[in-house]
Amino acid sequence: MIAPFIHNSFSGRVVFGAGSLESLPDELARMGAKRAIVLSTPEQHATAQRVMLALGDRGAAVFDQAVMHVPMEVALAAREFAKLHEADACVAVGGGSTIGLGKAIALSSELPIIAVPTTFAGSEMTAIWGITEAGVKTTGRDLRVLPKTVIYDAHMVRSLPASVAATSGLNAIAHCVEALYAIDRNPILTMVSEEGIRAFARALPGLVTGHATDEQWGEAQYGAWLAGTALNGVSMAIHHKLCHTLGGTFNLPHADTHTVVLPYATAYNREAAPEAMARIRAALGPWDDGDAASSLLALSKALGVPTNLKDIGMPFDGIELAAELAVKNPYYNPRPVERGAIIDLLTRAYHGERP
Ligand code: NAD
Repeated sequence: MIAPFIHNSFSGRVVFGAGSLESLPDELARMGAKRAIVLSTPEQHATAQRVMLALGDRGAAVFDQAVMHVPMEVALAAREFAKLHEADACVAVGGGSTIGLGKAIALSSELPIIAVPTTFAGSEMTAIWGITEAGVKTTGRDLRVLPKTVIYDAHMVRSLPASVAATSGLNAIAHCVEALYAIDRNPILTMVSEEGIRAFARALPGLVTGHATDEQWGEAQYGAWLAGTALNGVSMAIHHKLCHTLGGTFNLPHADTHTVVLPYATAYNREAAPEAMARIRAALGPWDDGDAASSLLALSKALGVPTNLKDIGMPFDGIELAAELAVKNPYYNPRPVERGAIIDLLTRAYHGERP
C-alpha cells in the first residue's frame, strides 16, 4: 500500500556530462547574466581562474575566500564583493562550502547561482543555507538560494584526492539512507535515494584506485545529484543530527564524520525501519552481507576511509556531551532518541566496533 504523502518538485536546471562546463557561457546568457562573479575556496583558486577565463566578457571577478560552514564575516565580504562588481549572477565552483557561500549571497540579494559542484556533498540541489556566527551555525530553507542551474562535469571532480572522493560519496550515501526512513518520505524520493546508493556503491571502489574513468566519476556525480535531491525533499534524522552536533561541538571534519557515523546510525534504526534496511541492502549490491549497517561499514573499509571517531579527532570524554546535545533537540527518528542508546552508539563509533 502506498502511504499518503506530499511531494514538492523544484525547478532547478541540471546540465550533466563530461565536458559540460563548456556550456557555462551559454547558461549565463540563457538567464540574461552579463557580469558573473566566480566563487571558490583558496585551494581551488586556479580552477576558479580557469572558469573565469572560460566566461570571457561575462566574467567579472573571482572571490576565492570560501571556507567550511560559511562564517558570517566571509558571507558579508562576499556580498560586498558582489555589489562592488555589480554582479548579476554568481558561479560557485566547488563543494558544499563554496556553494554555501553563493547561497549566503543569494539569501540577501537573490543573485542567481550557477553551481559547478566539485564534490558529491549535494548542496547544489538544495534550498538549504547555513551561516556561522560566533561559533553557532544557523540553517534554514529558502527557495531564493536554490541554484538556478547545476552543471555536473566529470572533469571537475577528477582532481579529488581518493580519500576525499570516498568520504564525500559516503556523505552523499548518508543523505539517501536517511531519506529512506524520513518521516516525510515519499515514493519518488525513495526511488531516488535507493538509486543514489546504488550509483555510489558501483562508482566509489573505482574512484579510489587512482585510475577512474570519466564514466565512473560521472556515475558518482549522478549519485550526488540523486542524493542532493533527496536531501532537499525530505527531513533528515539521527545520523544528520549526530554529525551536525559532532561537527559543531568538536570541529570534526564534515565528510569524515558522516563516513564514520553512518553504519552506527543505520544500526540504531535497524529494527525500527525494516523497509529502509532492505532497500539499502538491495542498493549496496556486492557489499550486502545480510545487514545494512555492517554492509555500509564493509564498503567504508574497502575504500580505506576512517572508520572510527577516535582517528578523526573526537575526544572520548566528549561522548556524553554529544549525546546530551543530540537528545536535547532531536530530529524525528524512527527509533526514539535516548541518551543511553546514543552513548552506546557513539562509544561503538569511537572505537570502530561492530555496528
Ligand atoms: P568543501 O566544499 O568544504 O571542500 C573540502 C575541501 O576540498 C576544500 O579545501 C576544497 O577546496 C577541496 N575540494 C573540493 N573539490 C575539490 C576537487 N574537485 N579537487 C580538489 N580539491 C577539492 O567540502 P564538502 O564536503 O563538499 O562541503 C562541506 C560543507 O557543505 C559543510 O559546511 C556542509 O555543512 C555543507 N553542506 C551543505 C549542504 C546543503 O544542502 N546546504 C549539503 C551538503 C553539505
